[in-house]
Amino acid sequence: MTPITTFFRNLEAKCCASCGKVISEQAESYATECFSCQDQATADSYKHYYKKN
Ligand SMILES: [Zn+2]
Repeated sequence: MTPITTFFRNLEAKCCASCGKVISEQAESYATECFSCQDQATADSYKHYYKKN
């Protein structure tokens, strides 16, 4: 039998803090944002870094 409550609890715990999207099971435990939001944040800081130089 599938522990469905645990499954949904895991889904709840893995929601993107930025867009609220459910994070896939491959997300690292410390990640609070989905991959696209993380990607955007990385691209943003990269742009900022480039602007400064
Ligand atoms: Zn997100």
